[in-house]
Amino acid sequence: MFRYREEATAKKIIESLRAMDLKDISIMHVCGTHQDTLVKFGIEAMLKDVGIRIRQGPGCPVCVTTTKEVVEAITLAKSGVTITVFGDMLTVPTPIGSLADAKAEGADVRVVYSSTDAIKVAKDAEKVVFMAIGFETTSPTTAAVLLDDPPENFSVMSCHRILPPALDALFHMGEVKIDGLIQPGHVATIIGLRPFDRFSKDLKVPQVVGGFEPLDVMVTVYMIAKQLVEGRAEVENEYSRVVRPEGNPIAMRMLEDVFHPVDRNWRGFPVIPGGTLELRPEFEAHNARKVYEEIIAKAPVVREDMGGCRCGEMLRGIIESKDCPAFGKSCTPKRPMGPCMVSREGGCNISYRYRQE
Ligand code: SF4
Repeated sequence: MFRYREEATAKKIIESLRAMDLKDISIMHVCGTHQDTLVKFGIEAMLKDVGIRIRQGPGCPVCVTTTKEVVEAITLAKSGVTITVFGDMLTVPTPIGSLADAKAEGADVRVVYSSTDAIKVAKDAEKVVFMAIGFETTSPTTAAVLLDDPPENFSVMSCHRILPPALDALFHMGEVKIDGLIQPGHVATIIGLRPFDRFSKDLKVPQVVGGFEPLDVMVTVYMIAKQLVEGRAEVENEYSRVVRPEGNPIAMRMLEDVFHPVDRNWRGFPVIPGGTLELRPEFEAHNARKVYEEIIAKAPVVREDMGGCRCGEMLRGIIESKDCPAFGKSCTPKRPMGPCMVSREGGCNISYRYRQE
């Protein structure tokens, strides 16, 4: 691991970037882990110094889950269904409170670390819903439990997202300048490189799939900058020690067997065509939206924008956390106003944790 953190190599990369004499370059990434590395190791600031601005896009699974989806899960919990969720979802605020609030009022909401944990809960609870969030990295694990003859009382509320359609939406909306894209190594481990081709071929955007150590990220940025200087737009792979060009065909087949893409909102975005994964009709008996259709229909209709919270603009790469007037004042990890402050992959939470007083 340490060879991916060598200071001397980092300095050489920065000097090579400086020699390129870049001006006002804007590179987007779509991953909370990349943002953590960029901020924790001060890479973001070093890159700014050589003319490269990094923007975080819609790469935090908790953050892109809509208020509507959380409200539906709270409604189920309050009606007597056991809700199993990843810990980061617990305190996401909505106009009717959070899942943690529902738990405090007596609802059965349990934190799990995997879909397999959720199956274990189904062995000692009556009706169990797994609120499944995450991108292509985690959706195969949800598919795996559904393909493995799950208990009758177990169902899934799929909030899984597919990354490339969100990038299509960002380019279509055209709100931010994107000169290059750092693609997330863990997503590419599953889907491979091909789904990213269109952004280079059609839009002439250089892309590099990057790993998560400091030097991974710096080399990734260097590779993008080199493409820009040389007038190329290709999909390259910095993370070749893990990512194969074809991805993981077994995981992809599992995803195709269990899910199909549907058009739904992401937080901060309009409906993204094909951007969300829903269970196929064959799995209807384990689809919480079908099993508990009548209860979910009674969920209150809420506004997506949480008064004053600018997570939507954060997720579209338009602002940074420091641009939100609430950051560190009325909004902190202890009293979050939005998911970007709740989730450890959220841009506001990361900035808050590594802020320099
Ligand atoms: Fe929302 Fe808080 Fe982030 Fe502002 S600082 S965008 S209120 S989560």
